[in-house]
Amino acid sequence: MENTRLKIAVQKSGRLSERSLDLLSKCGITLEKSKDQLLCRAQNFPLDVLLVRDDDIPAFIATDVCQLGIVGENVLFEAQECSENGSFSKLETLIKLGFGRCRLSLAVPNEADYNDLNFFNGKTIATSYKGLLAQYLQNQNIDAKIVTMRGAVEIAPKTHLADAICDLVSTGSTLTSNGLKEVETILNSQAVLIKNSDMPDDLNDICTRLVTRMSAVLKARSSRYIVLHAPINALDEIKTVLPGSEAPTIIPLKGCDKQVAVHAVSEEEVFWNTMEDLKAKGASSILVLPIEKMMD
Ligand code: ATP
Ligand code: ZN
Repeated sequence: MENTRLKIAVQKSGRLSERSLDLLSKCGITLEKSKDQLLCRAQNFPLDVLLVRDDDIPAFIATDVCQLGIVGENVLFEAQECSENGSFSKLETLIKLGFGRCRLSLAVPNEADYNDLNFFNGKTIATSYKGLLAQYLQNQNIDAKIVTMRGAVEIAPKTHLADAICDLVSTGSTLTSNGLKEVETILNSQAVLIKNSDMPDDLNDICTRLVTRMSAVLKARSSRYIVLHAPINALDEIKTVLPGSEAPTIIPLKGCDKQVAVHAVSEEEVFWNTMEDLKAKGASSILVLPIEKMMD
């Protein structure tokens, strides 16, 4: 059907917004106009972007307001944990996006005498992640009271609302500046593309095209193109340290019969010590280039 359009929900403003919109743009999708609108239409792809609060995204997908969304795994798993009628079980992760990395951790005041999880028995823990925390405590056989807070969880111990907190941490600087120390990690999280697994075929086809593009962008992002000159008699040795050396392209160099040019794609970052190893084995003129797009 000509007019079939897929809807994706992304965070309107916050830690995931910029990277989410940037990813769509790297997929060649140009959005029409204002990011202040609730709904932005893509000009050159059958996609509409719904800009909303991240916490609302799982429910929007579960209730068919949209078919796709970009959220932190923390938000997805919390929604699934708290879901009463199982409606969130039809949410499926399509791709891990590699940004928005953080962890859901337990933290206690610096001065607390913490040895192990038993510390939390009989204590009160403040969190915005009641579902995940309750599940974790139950698995660990810890009997603690949970106080739900929507924000500023880190001030709960200072104000005697709670003895400890369970909150998202990335660098840990918020904890430090509030006199808290991280003691246990409950979940490692990153942004993910999620979908409603009951999608009609026509929408699913558009979804597959989008996922193919996103996977290509993500793959290219971590890959590098390596170009170097190698003495022919050192080629085998050089291949042993060359990342992505399964099938390097070997090109003769005009007017030089002792050396060849080697081109290879590495699906991982190339570090300085790899370049030093290559040089030590006789390689020269080593270039490591970013790759913009990549499709198998
Ligand atoms: P909204 O107004 O959309 O509800 P929010 O305040 O809940 O925004 P942000 O603080 O922007 O959300 O965080 C969005 C997501 O970014 C989190 O759910 C989490 O997946 C990820 N994230 C990465 N690092 C951190 C961090 N240090 N603290 C909080 N979230 C983080
Ligand atoms: Zn939120």
